Amino acid sequence: MTAVLQNYIDGEWCASEATEFLDVVNPATTEVLAKVPLSTAGEVDRAAQAAAQAFVNWRRTPAGDRIQYLFKLKVLLENHLEDLARTITQECGKTLAESRGEVRRAIENVEVACGMPTLIQGYNSEDIARGIDEFMIRQPVGVAAAICPFNFPGMIPFWFMPYAIACGNTYIIKPSEKVPLTLQTIMHLLEQTGLPKGVVNLVNGTTEAVDAILEHPLIRAISFVGSTPVARYIYSRAAANGKRAQCQGGAKNPVIVLPDADIAMTTRIMADSAFGCAGQRCLAASVAITVGEARQTFTEAIADTARSRIVGYGLEAGVQMGPVITAQSRSRIEALIQQGVEEGAKVLVDGRQPQIAGYENGYFVRPTILQDIDPTGKIAQTEIFGPVLSLIHLDTLEAAIALINQGHYGNMACLFTSSGAAARQFRYEAEAGNIGINIGVAAPMAFFPFSGWKDSFFGDLHGQGQQAVEFFTQTKVVVERWQEWTRKF
Ligand code: NAD
Repeated sequence: MTAVLQNYIDGEWCASEATEFLDVVNPATTEVLAKVPLSTAGEVDRAAQAAAQAFVNWRRTPAGDRIQYLFKLKVLLENHLEDLARTITQECGKTLAESRGEVRRAIENVEVACGMPTLIQGYNSEDIARGIDEFMIRQPVGVAAAICPFNFPGMIPFWFMPYAIACGNTYIIKPSEKVPLTLQTIMHLLEQTGLPKGVVNLVNGTTEAVDAILEHPLIRAISFVGSTPVARYIYSRAAANGKRAQCQGGAKNPVIVLPDADIAMTTRIMADSAFGCAGQRCLAASVAITVGEARQTFTEAIADTARSRIVGYGLEAGVQMGPVITAQSRSRIEALIQQGVEEGAKVLVDGRQPQIAGYENGYFVRPTILQDIDPTGKIAQTEIFGPVLSLIHLDTLEAAIALINQGHYGNMACLFTSSGAAARQFRYEAEAGNIGINIGVAAPMAFFPFSGWKDSFFGDLHGQGQQAVEFFTQTKVVVERWQEWTRKF
């Protein structure tokens, strides 16, 4: 019988009171792995009450003691890296190597949050006036929550949760209903650390659970990662309800290839960026803008690489790309490829309707390249979120930067070149939060903020590193006078 997933609230695994459930499906094999409950507002309320109760003692626990649970979690994650990676591949479709990389980035965030006794420090000024001192101290905000997308079930909760709890907050995580299994394993590991009950809670579900989080008076801060329309909605509802929010949205990441780039290296890196994780990374390259002679050299090389990519079930050795997440996703991607054609593009490499031996029912789209897309057309601005690379040709670096800056997303922009001056101009002028120079997936390490601009991010403080510490703390300023007359002895 198919397992029905449970929530984890107040230190207990509990069956949901939901009346609706969704299948969790392996996108390569279409096997139903589990059923996920669409938890109710009442269950979010129980999680929020439990977290608020736990906050009373947790915020009084010294940061040096709080991080001991994270040190234990790091060891458990290292020991279970392989199981976690297999689960990610099974529910999300990416290759085992990609899943291992994802867990590694989760672990890095735990390591950075272990520096909290230093990261959380404030500052002070003695004698701001004669005999008066002033301090800034950081205190936790209270109960916080994360609402997560499907594409990195093992990593994205870690952009937030380790920092939140190390800062003294208590937490609720709502994973994507498409990939809820990875977080089940992570919560079992957290349980093994002996973390006090109620400090981290898991509530499965979709819109009812999200709306309950947005409306709940005890939840003070919300971290969201997902598509732009939902990010915008979450940010505005959270703000209307007086909560702080950081909402990462979708992307359409452009990459410029200059004629002086190392074409062999550029092609290898670009193929991984555009087709890695089946193009379902928020930092996937989706438009390559070639300048000058790069048009011919890069186009030929990337087309060959795209055709030879080995597509299949991510658990099998040698597979370089897995399926996309759902049948609906595959239909949407194929419809967008067709729209590109209608806007005048040529399908240089066509990955639609592939037959993958042994996985004929899986949700596969092979790498696809659309040549000469219309820079003013819809496809140039629409997030495809699949293994589709569009090509545009322009005459100058300036024209390419101008085209990038017209886009409404601003998650990542990259440049391939051997010119330091071109690199500097690009870094200086490109309007995106994450910039790559001879890099195809400019993913910030855990000790840097996971940036994002324009419609790719709503808020001011990003996930990871010091910005996460700022998001999960409120500053308190203390002005103190202690004069001689206060001495009793
Ligand atoms: P999504 O927006 O469909 O879902 C994200 C979360 O929001 C899920 O937990 C889902 O249950 C919930 N949700 C969905 N619709 C909702 C609604 N109407 N009301 C309330 N809650 C709702 O995103 P997804 O398909 O899971 O993830 C892919 C998207 O995430 C892509 O757009 C990708 O670019 C983006 N993404 C962005 C980043 C980043 O750092 N900027 C990182 C990863 C993914």
